[in-house]
Amino acid sequence: MTNELDVVVVGGGTGGYVAAIRGAQLGLRVAVVESSDLGGTCLHRGCIPSKALLRTAEVLSTAREADAYGVEARDVRLNLKRAMKRKGSIVETLHRGVTHLMKKHNIEVIRGYGRIMGPSIFSPSAGAVRVTLENGDELTLTPRSTIIATGSSPRALPGLPFDGETILSSDDVLKMEKVPSSILIVGGGAIGVEWASMFQDFGTRVTVVEAMPSLLFQEDEEIGREMTRLFKKRGIAVLTDATLDVSSVARVASGIEVDVVQGERRERVSAEVVLVAVGRSPNVENIGLEATRIQVERGAIVVDSHLRTAEPNIYAIGDVIGGLQLAHVASHEGIHAMETIAGIQNSPIQYDQVARCTYSRPEVASVGISEKVARAAGIMSKWASFPLKQTGRRFFLENRTVLSASSQMLTPAICLVCT
Ligand code: FAD
Repeated sequence: MTNELDVVVVGGGTGGYVAAIRGAQLGLRVAVVESSDLGGTCLHRGCIPSKALLRTAEVLSTAREADAYGVEARDVRLNLKRAMKRKGSIVETLHRGVTHLMKKHNIEVIRGYGRIMGPSIFSPSAGAVRVTLENGDELTLTPRSTIIATGSSPRALPGLPFDGETILSSDDVLKMEKVPSSILIVGGGAIGVEWASMFQDFGTRVTVVEAMPSLLFQEDEEIGREMTRLFKKRGIAVLTDATLDVSSVARVASGIEVDVVQGERRERVSAEVVLVAVGRSPNVENIGLEATRIQVERGAIVVDSHLRTAEPNIYAIGDVIGGLQLAHVASHEGIHAMETIAGIQNSPIQYDQVARCTYSRPEVASVGISEKVARAAGIMSKWASFPLKQTGRRFFLENRTVLSASSQMLTPAICLVCT
């Protein structure tokens, strides 16, 4: 089968495996090349394990407040080992599900590391894939089309490389064996905010350092301000408009000390560990792009609105093309690219109604463009905000706070802090 393929997908994460399933549904012969575990970041190091632990944090915090609800819960405490076991078994169940879906759709999964090859005498256009198998053997696949879905990796701060012990990435914290007494989280985006919320519930002293004026800067300003206020109320130290002076890092017996710079102000912050959550770098290195005409800009593969790279038979989807690095965006792009290859899709992909959620406590959800973007584009006709505190529903959910919405001609944008 490997010689008669219509499409090879390099990377079996959310974007890659969903693309492959769509291709199989459309009658295409598809193979997925995956160097690690099918399911990618979302299933093994992202959405799923982090949400499993967030649920533990939520149960813990609710149980601590049980008395207020007329429930007697004594001796409430975290058992990290059991929480990690639960997280692992959720991941394993879903992993089995994805593996089953591949089999059911007759998709060949090749365990190995794929590199795109340039034009050759055997394959006059770029797009063949050379796979280094786990045993070191090499395999060359020559499909009609190729989809690059190699995802992204945690970005380190310059001068502060991850060491897996004190300077941690989001991959590292998912493997922790003990809850740190204190943590400095660099980055107040979705990943930093989720972990800050979780660690605070676990009893860790949390400091968040964010370079922008508020947390969750991609959301409406009001939402970011509200999150900052609520985090501070929970006892999380939030330093906005602030950066880490990595040259001031000192390793001490209790962990690390570093200066945080806020304008003219300089504050020495100490923590047992540092979680760096300053974004993710698309995996564009060492995948053979140099042999092709594929462009990389600001670290991400450049595609057109049909997800085509500069090589007509090579597409790219998901985190590797930058933009909104979300699982449902990756899978939507995978479906779009595969339908384009199959010839049943010729519309450009649209991003103006993407839903986003930060699963912290409180949760934040939004869809569409932000107030700021709508105003800047001159297309906002109305802005409304409603405190959820004023609804009876708030008594059945924890601390609901604010609902704000802007409506404009094309796409309504709604932001919600469900506190
Ligand atoms: P990936 O899932 O990264 O998959 C890429 C795959 O390609 C990997 O399996 C990798 O092993 C493989 N690969 C790479 N190079 C090669 C190669 N050369 N050959 C073969 N295989 C290769 N998104 C949400 O929507 N909701 C969330 O709640 C959410 N939470 C997150 C929490 C965390 C902590 C993190 C880190 C991310 C979270 N995300 C969330 C983002 C989401 O995980 C990503 O957007 C999504 O996984 C991107 O899918 P992808 O297919 O592009 O890449």
